[in-house]
Amino acid sequence: MARRAAVWALGMAAWCAVAIASAATPARFAWPDGKRAAVSLAYDDALDSQLDNVIPALDKVGLKGSFYLQLSREPVNTRLAEWRAAAAEGHELGNHTLFHQCQASLPDRSWVEPQRNLDTTTKAQMADQVLLANTMLHAIDGKTARTLTVPCGDVHAQDGDYLPLVKQAFVGIKLGGGAVVPDMMALDPSAVPVEAPVGVTGKQLIAQVEEAGRKGTMVNFTFHGVGGDYLTVSNEAHAELLAYLAAHKDRYWTDTFLNLMTYVRQQQATQAKAP
Ligand SMILES: [Zn+2]
Repeated sequence: MARRAAVWALGMAAWCAVAIASAATPARFAWPDGKRAAVSLAYDDALDSQLDNVIPALDKVGLKGSFYLQLSREPVNTRLAEWRAAAAEGHELGNHTLFHQCQASLPDRSWVEPQRNLDTTTKAQMADQVLLANTMLHAIDGKTARTLTVPCGDVHAQDGDYLPLVKQAFVGIKLGGGAVVPDMMALDPSAVPVEAPVGVTGKQLIAQVEEAGRKGTMVNFTFHGVGGDYLTVSNEAHAELLAYLAAHKDRYWTDTFLNLMTYVRQQQATQAKAP
């Protein structure tokens, strides 16, 4: 019996050592001023409701968002001065390509117009358009550092993945696959997970922020319509999230995706060198 007890004790000690080791990794990512997590509020497709509802809501609580312009959309042309003014007050204008090419061959893609079908666009054509979109954004806001949100999260052009041809031009790329980043040190800045909430409550959004807080990582929301347009989240749910973030600035760092990813890249390089 004694021998069996000794074997059991040894087994438990080994198990505990493994448990402690796995609990200790990954090391907690160091956000500025001891904050627990980062929050990126992003808005895709250059929609009227973003100019009408989102920017006033963000400004009211002093938070900055990232607006990913599909440059061929009408509100870019008709309301250019308002996008430019938003950039001048610290919001980010991001690249969401010229024509929002997605793969028509995937399910629920009957809305993809033939001339904007990623399945029939080469990766070199996509790279040309994505880089030209950066030039156009530079003409609007005068900035050169840029981030990208990949339309539909689709990267497979006719002849392969187009992201390797453009990723050097971006500080960060949102690609889809979930709101909360699992591990900041393992995060690829060119493939950042993001979720597009639709029809959710403020409480559901806040729960995802708190999950990022528990993990010490980052939550990425990509909204479309807010209080209008399509893939809509209500003004009330959006305002509840903003009020929560404004009331907990000590815990959560809400900023443009550009500012967050500039910090993440620096911190990944610094912490990777630490003993
Ligand atoms: Zn989009």
